[in-house]
Amino acid sequence: MAWAQTLQTLIDACYFIAALLFILGLKRMSSPRTARGGIVWAGFGMLLAVVATLLLPDMQHRGLIIAAVLIGVAAAWWSGRRVAMTAMPQMVALYNGMGGGAAAAIGASELIGHAQDFAIAAPNTFPLMPESWSPLHGATSVVPLSPVALALGVLGALIGSVSFSGSLIAFAKLQGWLDRRLVFPGQQVVNLLVLAAAVGIGVWLATGHLTIALVCAFFVFALLFGLLMTLPIGGADMPVVISLYNAFTGLAVAFEGYVLQNEAMIIAGMVVGAAGTLLTQLMAKAMNRSIGNVLFGNFGATSNAAAQTIDGSQKPVEAADAAVMMAYAERVVIVPGYGMAVAQAQHKVWEFAQLLIARGVKVKFAIHPVAGRMPGHMNVLLAEAGVPYDLIADMEDINPEFPVTDVALVIGANDVVNPMAKTDPASPIYGMPILDVADAKQVIVVKRGKGTGFAGIENALFYADNTRMLYGDGQAAAGQLVSELKSLDA
Ligand code: NDP
Repeated sequence: MAWAQTLQTLIDACYFIAALLFILGLKRMSSPRTARGGIVWAGFGMLLAVVATLLLPDMQHRGLIIAAVLIGVAAAWWSGRRVAMTAMPQMVALYNGMGGGAAAAIGASELIGHAQDFAIAAPNTFPLMPESWSPLHGATSVVPLSPVALALGVLGALIGSVSFSGSLIAFAKLQGWLDRRLVFPGQQVVNLLVLAAAVGIGVWLATGHLTIALVCAFFVFALLFGLLMTLPIGGADMPVVISLYNAFTGLAVAFEGYVLQNEAMIIAGMVVGAAGTLLTQLMAKAMNRSIGNVLFGNFGATSNAAAQTIDGSQKPVEAADAAVMMAYAERVVIVPGYGMAVAQAQHKVWEFAQLLIARGVKVKFAIHPVAGRMPGHMNVLLAEAGVPYDLIADMEDINPEFPVTDVALVIGANDVVNPMAKTDPASPIYGMPILDVADAKQVIVVKRGKGTGFAGIENALFYADNTRMLYGDGQAAAGQLVSELKSLDA
């Protein structure tokens, strides 16, 4: 008895330390300088929580759980090591979906375990499964859930299911496996009906009417809603929805943590839910959408207005001329985008910037909140190259400076510098705040050819009178600029 008490105290202490590590880790993640350490701290917190959970005296099927954990760790280790930086958003979407799915699975096992007809049919419910693997094995007395735990269990299952199926669709889209958007007439109504069905059945379940058929129907509608909600999303709205599902997963985990009376899950879930909600708000603001519109609007819907036509032509420039323009400029702002990540050009770009700074040019880097393919993508790349943080400016801070900027060097950015977001109501990115590079005296755009960006649309900036196109791979072009600048100094 005393031993059991000591073990429980030890487990509680582990959960407490794990929760502390999650919070301190998150705090450290708020600055690029300490972020790497923050991830390690939070990782240790998770390890501690998992070990403590395995020590729980009434834990069933330890062998199976350890086998599942090992398979998961091996898969995550393998995929985490080989994923390209540019494929990180897909991976985040996938892992996030797994978290939501895990929370939903806890909800499912609780709800099924408490279903009246399951208790009666239990011995023959899974005839192919060894009796010792049955969810009811050893659980001779299924402790009834309190009304609050039942309600939160249902809510967690709903949110987790939506996050699971929605994140899988987001993954498939980002991976290029699915057409960008699927839109059909009456879509909003169908979505609302499916949501209403899931919520309606959920309320019925939460009031204690638990049968296996109803639980199954509930999950079918909840998963379907996640699919339907994500299918119409396209173009520039994906970051908001990924972030939203991240918040969903956190909330689902916290709710299911309450059902299991697991403090570490509650705290970790609330931390992820809160951080995800804040990030969603920031992203929605950056995309100029309200959270309500994100939740219930038809993401990325285009209006019926005619698409704007673009006059003029793209005017190429040689690296030598571009280098001279910047060498004799007073102020240069470098705007990185997804193409810089693809080309892994950040080191060469920073080398070029250092040469300019050595010549007395005032250089800054401008980062749009959704540049690249994940929040903070450009910050991570620039930090990796060693760019000091005081040279990096956010959109709100840098936009007023473009009119006094001699040259804006856009490298692999497209959607985030597209002026049509302001001028073309038919554009899928209409309303999204952009970096006002067109206001600079001269603009040099580095890209390989006439390829479009993530939103798949034309960009009026490339045709502007003050824009010159330096065609080529980002790293190669930055390398040419470096050589040209060095030859000027020689
Ligand atoms: P974009 O995707 O709009 O444009 C990237 C440009 O880079 C392309 O036009 C392409 O043109 C060029 N490019 C590609 N490869 C190379 C290369 N090797 N060298 C040089 N250029 C290259 O990028 P932005 O960063 O401007 O915008 C990000 C977009 O992604 C936004 O629409 C955003 O909403 C979306 N998004 C953002 C997420 C986030 O969290 N940050 C998540 C998911 C989506 P070309 O082919 O001619 O070279």
